[in-house]
Amino acid sequence: MFNFTISTRIPIFHFMQQSLLGRNLSHIVLLFIFLYSFSAKAQKEVTILYTNDIESVYQKTEAFWNDDIEQIGGLPYLSTLIKETQAKEKTSFLFDAGDIFTGALSAATEGALPFDVYNSMGYDAISLGNHEFEYGWERFIHVKQRAQFPVLCCNIFYEDTDITVCQSYTILEKDGIRIGLVGLMGIEAFTNTMNPAHRIGLEARDPYPITQKLIDEMRPEVDLIVLLTHQNLSAPMQTDKEADPYVQRGFDEDYEMAGRLKDVDLIIGGHSDNGLWEPVIHPETGTIICMTFGQGKYLGYLNLKLEKEHISINKSELIPVKSAKLKADEKIMELVEQVRKENQELIEVLGTIDKPAFRKYYKESSLGNILAEMNKNISKADIGLVNSGAIRADLNTGEITTEEVINIYPFVDKYHVVEIDGKALKELLEYSYQLTYGFAQLSGIKTKFDSNLPKGQRLIEATVNGELIDDKGKYTIASSSFLSNGGDGFSMLKEGKLISISEKNLIDEYIDYIREHPQVPYPISGNQLDLAGE
Ligand SMILES: [Zn+2]
Repeated sequence: MFNFTISTRIPIFHFMQQSLLGRNLSHIVLLFIFLYSFSAKAQKEVTILYTNDIESVYQKTEAFWNDDIEQIGGLPYLSTLIKETQAKEKTSFLFDAGDIFTGALSAATEGALPFDVYNSMGYDAISLGNHEFEYGWERFIHVKQRAQFPVLCCNIFYEDTDITVCQSYTILEKDGIRIGLVGLMGIEAFTNTMNPAHRIGLEARDPYPITQKLIDEMRPEVDLIVLLTHQNLSAPMQTDKEADPYVQRGFDEDYEMAGRLKDVDLIIGGHSDNGLWEPVIHPETGTIICMTFGQGKYLGYLNLKLEKEHISINKSELIPVKSAKLKADEKIMELVEQVRKENQELIEVLGTIDKPAFRKYYKESSLGNILAEMNKNISKADIGLVNSGAIRADLNTGEITTEEVINIYPFVDKYHVVEIDGKALKELLEYSYQLTYGFAQLSGIKTKFDSNLPKGQRLIEATVNGELIDDKGKYTIASSSFLSNGGDGFSMLKEGKLISISEKNLIDEYIDYIREHPQVPYPISGNQLDLAGE
């Protein structure tokens, strides 16, 4: 199934040396072949198309942050753009740096749909992302068999063995251009950004020595060494993140790797969604680093000139997927519609909203307030709490379907209510205002804070039911099992008293709540007022 190729250059030279008539003639012919191959190599050109963190975004999105683009993204439109771009290139490869699962349709098929879509889009290779563990690693191993391309990761092992979960590397060849590819995942991405139950029996090891060994083995065989990495900090959960420098997460781990590993030509990074409008070239090693903003909103384009011992960029850009202007790829639409047809519950209209509600990672948001309000109302708790990192899509105006609600909150958490005292509640607020993992979206509480003050001293005032928080008072907080277990650093909830666990998953609570309250009111903003202003 995989595309392994092995060099045959050395035997050809060997044959020439033995069979030619005279020693001088053989030298002349060899020199000619050398010069020919050198000049042929000097003319080599290759286009690398790349994506990362697509996360099963099948729908196009309103590009409300960009005046030049009406709608952006959506896999059927990205697929058309890829095919149109490839048609103009002599030699091109298509790679992805992981996180192909998540959301309602991926969950309904436990990852089968994303693989079928990627097959149809013609990916040449992808690397493993943390989202691929969303239905447990055993399911991933099973569903990965659908892939008609290598799924690479060299440093995730079955515990206490030397057996990797994925293929570590591959060598691909088109039009005489050979690319050696290695996939890898950051230890932090493996350890801290997935449900621990989904990785029991596996372990992540330091990618550096493993990757360097693979590079050293492949280098003599290939024109280009490419790493598909899934590392750096996790991405900010915000749709307009490309227009908000405040939430950019950087690509420190990729940059460090570009400086420390030898002989890497290109790193295509994932996980932090820190889109790079221009590739970054490491000043010491010359390694090129590329990344898109994720969710299939842009197609990364990189045209390289390959010369002996030197690789240079002819042209590079992030091409926006202008979905209002692109024809949807019919095959992808068919695959998506088939899953909807087989899962009728996803197309149920639960309710409506008359204005779009957006998420913000580092601020109070309209969608965050809607979810927090539901959390509070489901059990009449004092306070509803949602972590910004759990909000995975915006809510469009109009009808709200089950599919949309699951896309917004695609996790299998339980609904938990925890009781904590006022002192712990103030600690929770201070922790939120440090923005370590995004902002706590809250309902039932009014706060004033100042984001210009030092961390740990930002909370100015907080009231519940119009009264100042009493350090010794008791407050009930309705959130998720993820948060009540201390997820995203909310350890004060783990130390509280768990007073209710629902039978249903939180997402099912949301679905039932909207069905019973179909007119979703637009939330009042200003629950949490930053005195430092915008
Ligand atoms: Zn990721």
